[in-house]
Amino acid sequence: MAVEAVLTTTILDRIYREILYAENKLTMWKRLLLVRGAEIVVFLLLTAIPLEINNAYALGLLTLLAVYGILLIGLDVTVGYLGQINLGHTAFLGLGAYAAGLSVSYLGFGVLGALGLSLVVGLVFGGILALPALRLEGPQFALATLSFSALTVTTLNEWEGLTNGAQGLQVARPDLFGLQLNAQNFYWLCLIFLALVWLVMRNLLSSQWGRAFEALRDSPIATDAMGIGAYRHKVAGFAIGSALGGLAGGLYAFNFQYLQPQTFVYDLMIILLLGIVLGGRKSLWGAFVGASLIALLPNLLSSRIVFQTLSILGFLLAFSAGARCLVKKKTKPFQAIAPIVAMGTLVIGSLVVKNTEDWRQAIFALMLFSVVVGLPEGLMGFASHFLAQLFRLAPPSLPEASPLDTVLVNKPVDGEALLELKNLKRYFGGVKAVDGISLSIRSGQIHGLLGPNGSGKSTVVNVISGLYPPTAGEMLLHGKPLPTGSLFKVSRVGISRTFQNLQLFAELTALDNVMVAMKGVYRSVLPLVLLGLIKEEEKRAQADSLALLTLVDLKDLARSKAKDLTYGAQRFLEIARALARKPDLLILDEPAAGLAHPDVTRLVEIIKRIHQQGVSIILIEHHMDVVSELCGMVTVLDGGKIIADGSPDEVKRHPKVIEAYLGTPDDEAAKALPASDAPLLA
Ligand code: ADP
Ligand code: MG
Repeated sequence: MAVEAVLTTTILDRIYREILYAENKLTMWKRLLLVRGAEIVVFLLLTAIPLEINNAYALGLLTLLAVYGILLIGLDVTVGYLGQINLGHTAFLGLGAYAAGLSVSYLGFGVLGALGLSLVVGLVFGGILALPALRLEGPQFALATLSFSALTVTTLNEWEGLTNGAQGLQVARPDLFGLQLNAQNFYWLCLIFLALVWLVMRNLLSSQWGRAFEALRDSPIATDAMGIGAYRHKVAGFAIGSALGGLAGGLYAFNFQYLQPQTFVYDLMIILLLGIVLGGRKSLWGAFVGASLIALLPNLLSSRIVFQTLSILGFLLAFSAGARCLVKKKTKPFQAIAPIVAMGTLVIGSLVVKNTEDWRQAIFALMLFSVVVGLPEGLMGFASHFLAQLFRLAPPSLPEASPLDTVLVNKPVDGEALLELKNLKRYFGGVKAVDGISLSIRSGQIHGLLGPNGSGKSTVVNVISGLYPPTAGEMLLHGKPLPTGSLFKVSRVGISRTFQNLQLFAELTALDNVMVAMKGVYRSVLPLVLLGLIKEEEKRAQADSLALLTLVDLKDLARSKAKDLTYGAQRFLEIARALARKPDLLILDEPAAGLAHPDVTRLVEIIKRIHQQGVSIILIEHHMDVVSELCGMVTVLDGGKIIADGSPDEVKRHPKVIEAYLGTPDDEAAKALPASDAPLLA
C-alpha cells in the first residue's frame, strides 16, 4: 500500500512538473515569438518595401530611417544607459561622414573600407573626448560635449584644403564588389548594417557590459566598490556609442553624396535627443521608433490630413492613458492631464493651421512635452508594458540557484590576522576623524566597531575600503600592503562593503544588482560578448546570484527593481551584492540602521549564515544586543581614537565606554546600559 502511495504521488508529482515545465516552455515561446518575431517581421517588411514601391522619395526616407536608427542606438548608449547628457553625437556623425568621403576620394577606399574607417574614427575620437570629459559630471559633461561639437564643425569648415569648407564636399559612392549601389541596393546595405548593429548591441547591452553601464549611472561609487570600474566602463560605453555615430556618418555620406559642415550643428542634435526621448531610452526598439519619427515625421506632417489623423490618434492615446491613470490614481493629476491638454491643442491646431511647415517646431515641442510628462519611458516603454500585460508575458524563467558553498567558497578559518591597521589617521581639514588607530582583525571573526555618532567609525571603513586615502598610517591585508584611495582596487583584493547610506543600483532588478557584482564568472572577451556566445556564463551568474538572494531571503523578489523594494529588503540586497565579490572580509556599515524590529532579527540571522560560510566581518552597529549576540571582538571609538576593546561584555563595563555614552563614569551608569534591543547610541 505504502509503496503504491509513494509511487502514485511520485508519478503525480512527475506529471505536475511536466505541466509546469510545459507552461514555462509555452511562455518562453510566446516571448520569443513576440519579441524576436516582431524584429523579424519589421526587418522583412523593411526589406520588401522597395520591391513593391519604386518611389525614389520613399526610398530616401527609408534609407534615412536606417541611418538614424544606427545613430540613435549609439546615442542611447550614452544618454539612456550611461545617463549622460551627450550633446556631441552629431560631431561623430560629421567626423564619420567626412572620414568616409575623404577616404574614398583621396585614398581610393571601397565602401566597406570607408565605413570601417568611419567606425574607427568615431571610436577613437569618442575615446579621446571621453577620457577627460567623463571626469566631469552632469552639466559640465554636457558642456564639454557641446564644445567638442562646436570645435569639430569649425575645424571641418575652416580646413578648406581637406574638406572644401563651406563649399561642401562631393562624395562618390563606389561599387560594392562589382555591384552598383543604386538607391535600392544602397538602402539594403544600410538595412544590413542596422540589423548587424541591432544584433551586436542587443548582445552587448544584455550582457555584463550593459548592466555595468546602468549600474554606474545609478551609483558610480558602488560600481567601483563592486570591482566593476565606473570610469573605464563609462569611457568604453561612450566610445562604443560614438563609433556607431561614426558608422552612421559613413552611411550618411554615401546616402547624400554631398557633405557640408553646417549639417552637423546643434539643430540636428536636438532632433536626435527628441528621437531618443520620444522613442524611449534604454531600448533598441525605442531608438528605432525614435529614428522613424524623426526621419518620417517632418515629411508626414507636411500633409495636413496625415497631421490631423496623427494628432487625433495622439489625443486618444493621451486621453485613454491619462484617464486610466487618474482613475487608478497611478500618477499625479498633472502628469495625466497635461498631455491631454497638449495633444488637444495639437488637434485644434491641425484643424486651424493651413501650412504645417511653419509650425513644425511648435508641433515637435508639444509632442515632446506630452511624452516627457505623460510617458517618461517613451513610446516604447509604454508599449512594452502594455504588450506584456496584453499577452500576460511572465518574465523569462530563472535557473535553479547554485549551492551556496560553491558561490561563497568555504575558507579555512585560521584565526590569523587578516587585516591590520597601524596608527591609521584620516583628517578632514582640521577635523581629526580618525586619529591614530591600530587594530587587528582576525580571520573568522565578526569584529564589532562601536562608538557615538561622529566618532569616526564610517571614516575608518571608508579609508579601509579605498573611498578616502589615509592621511597617515599603514594597512595590511594578509600581511601585504592594502591598496589605498581606490574602491576599485580594494574590492579586487577581497574586501567588500555595504554603505551606511544605501548605494543600490536603483533601476536594476534585485537579481541584476547581485549579478553585476558577481566575481569570477565573466571571462569571455568582448568579441564573444558581441556575438552573444556567453549563454553559459550568464546562466551561471544568474544561478550564483540566486543563491545569494536566497541567503538574504529575497529570492522571490529577484525580478523586482531595487527601488521598488522595502527599505529592509534594500539593506539585505546590498549585503547580497557585497557577497557577490566573494570577499575574505565583509564590511557592514550600520546594516541595522532604520530597520524595524523583525528585520533586525532577520539581519542577525543573515549575518550568522554569512559567518558560517567562513566570511570575516567588520560590523558597525548601534544595537548592543546585536553586537553581543554576533561579535567575538569589539572595538569602541570616540573622537577618532580607540577607547576600549575586548569581548562585548568587557567593553560594556569599561569606564571610558560608559563615560563616552552616558557622560558619568560610575557604576549606576553601567547598570543603566541597555541590555535589550534599545539602541545604545543616539
Ligand atoms: P561615525 O560613522 O562614527 O558616525 P564618521 O566617520 O562619519 O562618524 O565621522 C567622523 C567625523 O569626521 C565627523 O566629525 C564628521 O563630520 C567628519 N567627516 C566624515 N566624513 C567627512 C568628509 N567627507 N568631509 C569632512 N568631514 C568628514
Ligand atoms: Mg557612520
